Amino acid sequence: MCFTRGSSADYDSWAKAGCAGWSWTELLPFFLKTENCKCPKLVGSEFHNTGGPLTITHRGTQLSDAFVDAGVELGFKRVDVNSGNIIGFGDFPMTIDEDGLRSSVARAYIHPAMERSNLTVLCNATVTKINIEDKKVVGVSFRTKKGDKFVKVNKEAIVSGGSINSPQILMLSGIGPKKHLQQFGIDCIADLPVGKNLQDHMSVQVKVSVKEGSEVNTGENFPSGTNGVEGTAFFKTGLEEPDNDAPDMQIHFTGEFYPFGPDAPDILVYKDPKYFPLMSFDTTREERMRKEGIVLYSTFLHPKSIGSVKLRSKDPFDPPIVDPNYLENPYDVKALIQGIRLAKKITETKAMAPFECKINCLKMPDSTHDEWSDENLEEVVRHYAWTLYHPSGTCKMGAAEDKTAVVDPQLRVLGIQGLRVVDASIMPKVTSGNTNAPCIMIGEKAADMIKNDRQ
Ligand SMILES: Cc1cc2nc3c(=O)[nH]c(=O)nc-3n(C[C@H](O)[C@H](O)[C@H](O)COP(=O)(O)OP(=O)(O)OC[C@H]3O[C@@H](n4cnc5c(N)ncnc54)[C@H](O)[C@@H]3O)c2cc1C
Repeated sequence: MCFTRGSSADYDSWAKAGCAGWSWTELLPFFLKTENCKCPKLVGSEFHNTGGPLTITHRGTQLSDAFVDAGVELGFKRVDVNSGNIIGFGDFPMTIDEDGLRSSVARAYIHPAMERSNLTVLCNATVTKINIEDKKVVGVSFRTKKGDKFVKVNKEAIVSGGSINSPQILMLSGIGPKKHLQQFGIDCIADLPVGKNLQDHMSVQVKVSVKEGSEVNTGENFPSGTNGVEGTAFFKTGLEEPDNDAPDMQIHFTGEFYPFGPDAPDILVYKDPKYFPLMSFDTTREERMRKEGIVLYSTFLHPKSIGSVKLRSKDPFDPPIVDPNYLENPYDVKALIQGIRLAKKITETKAMAPFECKINCLKMPDSTHDEWSDENLEEVVRHYAWTLYHPSGTCKMGAAEDKTAVVDPQLRVLGIQGLRVVDASIMPKVTSGNTNAPCIMIGEKAADMIKNDRQ
């Protein structure tokens, strides 16, 4: 997975909003603790560490080097995208080990701890409820293939179900907006804004064909664990409040074989069957995969369109209702258009010239607008933007008196004893970048707080 911590400004703004202990300077030690950096350009830097559980490596090509050079040509800095100060262009490290395998949290953290006497890992076990008596957690109910089970909680329970399921578990347990819980006959134990504040990152792919023979990821020459991203850029669209130092736009760079060619559509995600004929479905896979290209994923980092997670029913196996509310606010569309325009500028640089970049047709098939007009790009964004799967914020962390908060800065659920939430759902505002590294840091920070509490 792409490995980036986000901007130092993200965490400083969390701290400023009442999350004591969550500033960049306070969190850097936890980021460092996670890391086993094997990127030659980064080893020895104050922002990297070796010897931690999570191995990170980088694999690039001449094309991704040229992408970073293109950024410098456009006036941006060459940056280490994990240094906190990330506006600029840089290599994108991956959580991939030296054997080319994904350095997942299971491999990095759980597998080495499996022999511990105080750890039991149950797979295919679904938590159905946190049991609470007198506002104190007393146990956790869950279901396995062998039926319904209960485990007694002596000290505390930690919910880490992710931004969709953590709010579901809390609401099923009586923690959530009172009126919403009443709809399902669930007694409200703590009336908290659980499930609100859902944020995610929307992205538009700009596909570019490049000179035949350029080195790209063929699926064989790259580590098997990779998702193909080699470089990234962070910048400010200029639309956001000037006092926010974090970037609001990110471009991911990949070099791959794709359905390129002058008439190929730009888009891989098909939402409307009427466009299927234009999507190269009548060609064979071999024909479609024949052309070298790059994809620049323009990704908006600070959405103003905020969604929600609600219960569908009282049944824990009924998926919750996820309303991401994507692009509801026109501001988010405007920002994505800026990202597409920067992607175009990158392809037009001298640094990229040797690769003969040609942007694939970025136009809706029946659009009458000029390709690079705001009107056309808005149609493209509204039709083809997709999620990078970074849902966050649904059990928001904040100061105890913050009416929008679900957990306090110690990640304890407000008003309930013996319950923490530790995952992406606690982010008050989604970070400026991919969310995996921040989630692992949240885990490290929580572990530290829990240990300190028990001393
Ligand atoms: C396809 C995809 C690609 C991604 N690529 C990247 C990337 O390259 N870089 C990056 O930084 N981020 C990436 N992300 C985002 C990143 O994976 C998430 O931000 C991160 O995993 C969130 O961590 P979490 O702990 O909040 O939730 P999760 O990782 O979702 O963990 C929640 C866990 O809880 C379990 N669970 C849920 N409900 C229950 C229940 N009731 N009982 C028991 N268990 C339950 C789930 O099965 C899951 O294992 C990607 C996400 C996706 C989906």
